[in-house]
This record gives sequence, structure tokens and C-alpha cells, in this order.
Amino acid sequence: AVTGVQVVDALTGDHQRTIAADIVVAAGGIWGPTIGKWLGKNMPMQPIEHGFGFSHPLEEFRDAANDESCNFPMIRHQGAGVYFRQQGKSLAIGAYEHKPLEVRQDQLASAAEAHAGGVQPSVHELTWEDYEPTWKEIQRVYPSVRAAGLDEARSFNGIFSFTPDGGPLLGPSNTVAGVWIAQAVWVTASAGVAQVTADWITTGHPGIDTADLDLARFDTRLLSPEFGRQKGLEAYDEVYDIRHPRAASAKLRGIRTSPFHFHQQLAGAHFVEANGWERPLWLEENRRVLEEAELTFPKIPAWDTSEFSPIAVGEAWATRNRVAMYDMTSLTRYWVAGPDASALLERLTTNKVSKKPGSVTFTLMLDAAGGILSDVTVTRVSDDEFLIGANSHRDLIHLNNHVRDGEQVSITDISPGTCCIGLWGPHARDVLSQLTDDDISHEGFGYFKAKQLYIAAVPALALRVSYVGELGWELYTTADHGARLWEELHTAGNQYGIVIGGRLAFNALRLEKGFRSYGADMTREHRPHQAGLGFAVSKVKTDYLGYEGLSEPPTTDRQMVTLTSDFPFGAPNSGSPVLGADGQLVGYTASSDFGYTVGKTITFAWLDPEHSRADTEVVIKHFNRSVPAVVASDPLYDPSGSKMRR
Ligand SMILES: Cc1cc2nc3c(=O)[nH]c(=O)nc-3n(C[C@H](O)[C@H](O)[C@H](O)COP(=O)(O)OP(=O)(O)OC[C@H]3O[C@@H](n4cnc5c(N)ncnc54)[C@H](O)[C@@H]3O)c2cc1C
Repeated sequence: AVTGVQVVDALTGDHQRTIAADIVVAAGGIWGPTIGKWLGKNMPMQPIEHGFGFSHPLEEFRDAANDESCNFPMIRHQGAGVYFRQQGKSLAIGAYEHKPLEVRQDQLASAAEAHAGGVQPSVHELTWEDYEPTWKEIQRVYPSVRAAGLDEARSFNGIFSFTPDGGPLLGPSNTVAGVWIAQAVWVTASAGVAQVTADWITTGHPGIDTADLDLARFDTRLLSPEFGRQKGLEAYDEVYDIRHPRAASAKLRGIRTSPFHFHQQLAGAHFVEANGWERPLWLEENRRVLEEAELTFPKIPAWDTSEFSPIAVGEAWATRNRVAMYDMTSLTRYWVAGPDASALLERLTTNKVSKKPGSVTFTLMLDAAGGILSDVTVTRVSDDEFLIGANSHRDLIHLNNHVRDGEQVSITDISPGTCCIGLWGPHARDVLSQLTDDDISHEGFGYFKAKQLYIAAVPALALRVSYVGELGWELYTTADHGARLWEELHTAGNQYGIVIGGRLAFNALRLEKGFRSYGADMTREHRPHQAGLGFAVSKVKTDYLGYEGLSEPPTTDRQMVTLTSDFPFGAPNSGSPVLGADGQLVGYTASSDFGYTVGKTITFAWLDPEHSRADTEVVIKHFNRSVPAVVASDPLYDPSGSKMRR
């Protein structure tokens, strides 16, 4: 644990003293990675130079009261990657158009160098070749700077840091007790960061969902210096880009691939990346399904064609009507084992999970206030062994943080060494039964049960669960057996027209079933019942984290509902406003996609209670479009679940 901070005069080494402290916040700006080393913490921050110029004084600013006066709005010139604002008598002009200019920690000036040069370590000389296009463009859009000219003596390259996803790094260090992190923070976010950090430290609760802020969001396995570097440079490059939410990072691709990657490549997969994993959105070879099934679809607006192919329609159709294989390897899974494994899991989950070996339970992990930290699928493999289907690296830290002294339990991230195939569709049993002698009948292998099977001689853990709403299994095995499992299933499925499905089809199918996705649909700002997940909370269990919080009033009374609409094929972006009949704001959207089976766009939305009742008419705003939508009864496909339970 931290006991204090040693302070020393950086120039002379004199005046050493210690300030005692049991809580220290690391907020060292571009020196974050250096501070991280002291804490044993890999801080994925890439310092980058950013061109920043000043015009000579302008006539229109002659009355400026001082050097910092700013009486006009700041303007972003999105297309050119330029922003500008008044600063005293000058126009200050920032340049994002230039290539990212990386700075290593050892290139930052030391205190002595900075003192000798009289320049801040975070300031480097303006590089004219990088700044020139910006200066040209500003003269075009703000002509009065032409005559005034660029004040080269004042202009500079300033240095600040970019993380792999451009967000800040906040939260407990998780390496040294009492040390908190507030790094890679922009001025725009500074007040909010201060509030969240203060709340988090003093109450244990950050007050808002911190999934995109928490430094624990990065899987430590990925945090090589090269990862931080390449993704950080990319984040700088994209500050002024308009990216579709589905658009994937272009840097350091292929860092994690499943054993089925090669097969998916051969099938013409269009990959995106998530948490380092390559995942197919759709597969070109399935274009034939569109013809075979005579599927048609309306014209797609330009924005919605980003990272989209109608082939996904064919894959969804094949899952509902034939059988499909989905690569589920990229989903996070942990192996929790030991005599105290069940005690740990019971303490942290809303449902009873220590049932008989072979049971599968869908349950939630809550924070102390009753907010949803994660939804997890817990499989009791044996008395002392559980497989946890989780969401992110934060879940691993959460589990580890709650192991008590003396408890015998190990928590292992087995995502990398294992793989998973989702085999789903009306013919799933026909396919699997060709490859195993085990009893996989509905009577012999019921819904939400697990069994160890040999499938074509491959040892696999089979879970009778389905996120797409069809009969089938998640089949887990170790990575070495993956290719054989894939090939055998594919061959056995041939006579049933098996297809390899991508994430687009998968997402549309789960929306039709009303299945929520953590992060996209609900966060720690939401309670289970509001999110439509009350079924995952035991009516009798009381001794778990968050139980007491559930009886406190929630921070919002909005409910998650399903909206259907005749969107022109596409889907609203997450976070789009939802308006009531009088045009008043009544909520916002979460996940959305076209439901190919139901022929409507399906949108999960958080709405005020008075607009949450079935058949209520609302309007979804999507850019400049207003699309009428109606609250539907959930789920839209197979409400009785009979397709999965047979
Ligand atoms: C040219 C330029 C333009 C920008 N424009 C914008 C903008 O328009 N909007 C926006 O939101 N952001 C902007 N930013 C980014 C923003 O300025 C920074 O992200 C922000 O100032 C960082 O604040 P901080 O408190 O985290 O770090 P800093 O302000 O750098 O503070 C960190 C402090 O920690 C001290 N420190 C580090 N290590 C030690 C140590 N070992 N011992 C003692 N002290 C230490 C440093 O000396 C420093 O004082 C811009 C940045 C630049 C360079």
C-alpha cells in the first residue's frame, strides 16, 4: 500500500522530504508511463506532438483585455482537421491534419534541460512541413490571418497523450493499494474526471458507468509497448474522423486469431477487431444463400452500408432455417476453481450458481449500489470448477478483488488457450449427433445444461445455450483441437446446408430474441429489472454484493424496451434521441439492427416509464431523419422459447 510521496527539488536533488499519504492520485500528464513503471502498471499512453500556431494580432481582436481573452466560440473545421479560437489579440489554430508525431518518454526534456532551455518539456519546435497545410487552409476559411501572418516565434508543437481508444485512464491502480490513476485526461473532460475520481475514492462508486474510462478495460495481455504506440498514434489520426460505430481499428491487426481463422479467411470473411481478436462480420461465400433462399432487401442508405453486407441476411436466414456455425472464441471466459470457488461466485452473483455439476446459470454481477457490472453465464463443471462466460477484463479484476484472505480459489483467463463454436439452427442436433455417441437428445441433454462430450474424438465441453434463439450448443475445446472440431462439424453439416455465420447476423438474431448485450445495452447505471433482466435475479438469495443496493431508489427510472420501426433498412446509432408525441425527449437508443426474420428494424431503447408500455408510439431521431417507432412486446421471435427447448 502507498504510504506517501517523496518530493525532491528536480534540479538540485535537494530538499528531500516525504508527504505522508494513504491515497495518491497519479495525474502526471505525459509522464504517465514513467509513473506507471513505479507502480508496476503498464500505462498505455502514447505522447504525441500536436501543431499549434498563432497569428500575429488581428484587427478584430484589438480590444482583447489580456493574452487569454476569448470572446468568440471555438470553431472545429471537421473536414480539414483544424480548430481555431481567439486567444488574446491573436487567432490560435490547432492542427490535426498532420501525421501523428510520436514522442518517447526518454525524449521528454529533463528538468535540467528544460531549465537550461527555458522551455517546458511538453513543448517542441513547430515542424513547418506538418503545419503548412493547416496554415494554408486557415487562410482560406479565415482570410484576415493572411495579412497578419503566422507568429512563428509563438507557435509550437505541444505534446499530449493518446490511449489505444482515445479515452482517459481512470480508477484504482490495482497494483498498489491507495494509488489511483487519472491519466490521459483532456481539458474538456477534466471537471468530470475530477468528480468521478473523487466520488470513486470517497464512496467506492464512480457515480457513472466507467467502462470506457476505467484503465482496467484493457486486457493486460494486449498491452505491449507496440500496441500502446500503434493504437495511440491511430487514435490521434482519427480525432477529426467521422467513424461508423462498426468501423474497426486498422492497426496491429491479427494480434489474436482463433483456430478457425484460416477457415474463415478461405470462406471470404470480412473481419473486424474486438479486444485484439479478429471476428468475421460476414463471409463472402454465403452470398449464394441469398439466391438459394430468394432473399430480397430494400436499398441501404450510405451511412448504414459501412461495415455492412446483405450477406448477413442470408446467414441469419440460414441460422433460423438450416444450421450455422459461429466462432465464439473471442468471448471472454474464465476458469474459477478450488474449494472456495462456489463461495466466491455466490457472493458476487444475483442467482444461485452452485447447483449440481452440469448446470448452467445466467446471472449478473452487481456493484454495491445494485448497478449491473456484468452479465455472466456460469457453468458448474464439477464441484470445484466453474466456467464463467464474461464480458471484459474488468470482470477478471472484479473477481480477483473479491477473493478473501485464506480462500482457496484460482481464477484463470482461459480465453486464449481455448476456443468455442456456437452450433445453432433447426438441424444442429442432426449435425452433432453424427459426431458423438453421447446422448444429446432433449431428454438426455436439456436446455441450460452442460456435458463433456467427445465430438469426432475431440474432447469438448458442450453448453446447451443459445444467444441466437435456436436449438444448439456452445462447444468449447482447447485451441489444439479447434481446427478438427470446426472441420468435422462443417463436413457433417454439409447435407443440411450449414453456413458459417458472422457477427452481423449474430447481432440481429439476438435482438430478435430480446437478448441484451452488456455495455451496448446496459451498464452499471442500470438495475436488472429496468434492463429487463429481472429473471436473472434470484427471489430468495440475499447474501450477494449489490443485494442491499437494489432496495435503494435507482438513479434513473427509465426502462429498457424494444422498439420496432420501418427504418429504411439501416438502424439508428446507439445513443440516438427518442421523442414522444409532443416532440419531447423521452429516452435514447441502445443496440439496433434490422431483424431479418421479423422484417422490422429492432431497437432497444431506454425510455421514461410513461412511454415504456407496449404499443406506445414514439419517434427515433437518426441524423436529420425522424422515424416513427412503436414499443413492442419482447421478444419478437419465438416468445415461448420453444425453438431452443426441444
Ligand atoms: C497544443 C495542445 C492543444 C491542446 N488542446 C486541447 C483542447 O483544445 N481541448 C482539450 O481538452 N485538451 C487539449 N489539449 C490536451 C490537454 O491540454 C491535456 O490533455 C491536459 O492538459 C493534460 O492535463 P493533465 O493534468 O493530465 O497533465 P498536465 O497538465 O501535463 O499535468 C501533469 C503534471 O504532473 C507533473 N509531473 C509529472 N511527473 C511528475 C513527477 N514525477 N513529480 C512531480 N510532478 C510530476 C508535471 O510537471 C505536470 O505539471 C491540448 C494539448 C496540447 C499540447
